[in-house]
Amino acid sequence: QTVPGEGMLAGLTPPQRQAARKEGAVVVLAGAGTGKTRTLVAGVVDRIARRGIPPSRILAVTFTNRAAEEMRSRIADAVGADRAPGWIGTFHAHGRRQLRNDPDIARLREGFGIADAEDSRRIVRRLLQAAMADGAFEEENGEVFRQRVKSVTTRIALFKDDLVLPQQAAGVVEELVQRYAGDAPDDVMAWHLAAALYPAYQAALREANMADFGDLLLWPTVTMQRDEAYRRDWGRRFDAILADEFQDVNRLQYQWLRLLSQDHGEIFSVGDDAQSIYGWRGANVAYIRNFLNDFPGGAMIALEQNFRSTGHILSAANAVIALDSGRLEKTLFTASGPGEPIEVVEFSGGLEEAQGIASEIGRRLLEGVAPDDIAILYRFNFMSRLLEEQLLKARIPYELVNDTAFWQRGVIRDALALLRLASCPDDLQSDEAFRRVINQPARGVGAKTLAKIEAVAEQEYISLFAAAERMFASATGKSAGRVRAFVATIREISAVDNAPLAERIRELLDRTGYADMYRAAGEDGRAALENLEELVGLAAEFTPLGDLFDHAALGSVSGAASGEGRVRLMTIHAAKGLEYGHVFLMGWEDRLFPSASNPDADEERRLAYVALTRGRRRVAITWCAWRGGRCADPSVFLSEIPPAALCHGWLRKHRKGPSATRTGHPAPYVR
Ligand code: ATP
Ligand code: MG
Repeated sequence: QTVPGEGMLAGLTPPQRQAARKEGAVVVLAGAGTGKTRTLVAGVVDRIARRGIPPSRILAVTFTNRAAEEMRSRIADAVGADRAPGWIGTFHAHGRRQLRNDPDIARLREGFGIADAEDSRRIVRRLLQAAMADGAFEEENGEVFRQRVKSVTTRIALFKDDLVLPQQAAGVVEELVQRYAGDAPDDVMAWHLAAALYPAYQAALREANMADFGDLLLWPTVTMQRDEAYRRDWGRRFDAILADEFQDVNRLQYQWLRLLSQDHGEIFSVGDDAQSIYGWRGANVAYIRNFLNDFPGGAMIALEQNFRSTGHILSAANAVIALDSGRLEKTLFTASGPGEPIEVVEFSGGLEEAQGIASEIGRRLLEGVAPDDIAILYRFNFMSRLLEEQLLKARIPYELVNDTAFWQRGVIRDALALLRLASCPDDLQSDEAFRRVINQPARGVGAKTLAKIEAVAEQEYISLFAAAERMFASATGKSAGRVRAFVATIREISAVDNAPLAERIRELLDRTGYADMYRAAGEDGRAALENLEELVGLAAEFTPLGDLFDHAALGSVSGAASGEGRVRLMTIHAAKGLEYGHVFLMGWEDRLFPSASNPDADEERRLAYVALTRGRRRVAITWCAWRGGRCADPSVFLSEIPPAALCHGWLRKHRKGPSATRTGHPAPYVR
């Protein structure tokens, strides 16, 4: 008689199987591609199929929605879709569910909205503008101010990730300044501003009945710490907890996991300290290294065989990471042969690099490589732009991999703002939405008029929408008429609350003139209209409406294009845990990678390790002698890779300097 899920365990090596079947606290600390995630999935299956734990009582945490989806589908394949655990997801997704259960632990009301990064920045911008006007710091404008907004917003998030409540921030600010090694005066000032503004920021969120990303986990965790009955109530819901990529948990996430698992100690964690790349977001690799201190009686299991990459790729990755001063020694071996050496190619500039990569990918597609077996990884998001242009030109289907890319597009955010406005026009929660769409298309509402609306709203303690409704009810003039019409339309649509979501969105887009704005733009507006159509189509998947907003804020795979049949473009950070047969690593130049802006040089090194170990069979590294208006040298990482693992062709090419610019058709990868 076969037990469901038995097949999955049979496919593991003895140490993997031992880890998957072990009860109590277990930590698998092992290098890239050794099967940690596979073991974790087998662990879930084992708990369900062999130990008989009900799937609803298993909690599994991953770092991205994509990883969660993949985990869910692998488990479903093994035990059946109806027996896959309901609690598989990111920390944010779990926190959201917990907070929705009891919004009042964060002093929020039912139906609270989730403020995404942009919403948070908008709130901080307003607070900073007020502080600047009060003389709290010198007046600054444009780009400097934009950076200030960003850095203060990030730091407020870091307070939350460190389990610091608003009123505690001032007391720990020096400690955080130290920890993040930011002694640049600007950095220190940003920390102090963040500490000073955090309480007001939190009050603004609460007033709007909104939770930001940090709040989703912060309040459940703080409440579990303070209130034993609440903690026990949540702890009791799960018999087993599993967490992937444990090297990247921060204090908040760690405490949340600990509080939930402390009664039964059934916690299975896997990770690799050599891949810890989120220090700048508060992650602390000590949690995985010292795991057994907090979970005595637990077991630490090592895995040494890499099942992913060929020998050359592995030897390159090993050489680069060997120079990381802090990591634990781990040996890694592969049973597959050396495979192809890593191809390194120099280009004269970024455009040539993008063209070169696009044409090489075109060649591989012709050879029969599947597009979704190819990935291009870069250090920073901005690096995708040239690449996208060239891929489009070459008609190579691609997808930007980013959990929230679709939802962050301007048009989608606009459409959702209209929807939010129509769903709760009188709620302060809709204020950000109002600011976003009131002058789109132009209705003559500039900064001055908006300030007047804000003043009325504040005085009367009503929403901006309600204030505008009141102010313009009898005002004369062309723009007053436009505002009046807009307000009336929203009111009307908001009154009909039983229309299907898709229909409601379409009506909003059409009747507020929003869609017409793009129709009038001809060819330029086409992409926007296509995105809006996609949103209308997606809307059918969501009821209630709140779920759509939550998905928009937290991102979800079902929201974006499925990615099948497309080349993947992403940052190295987003590639964590993933693997591809063909990997292109671009921009390996001095200053860009390792990035001169990261004070933690070892973290850049670990990023290089993550990048290299994504490749299964072929890895190519490219760099440009000229970028951003200045000369560049190849990345120091290139010089650390054993020459035997590199393709020699690139050295010749380097000297001859092929006329890539002149012909426009470089053939760089041909040896
Ligand atoms: P990362 O550190 O990058 O997250 P990982 O340790 O989680 O890597 P997995 O993604 O689980 O590694 O596994 C890497 C690859 O090796 C996958 O393709 C997986 O299916 C394969 N693999 C893992 N274990 C085995 C095994 N015992 N037999 C065959 N293939 C395996
Ligand atoms: Mg993994």
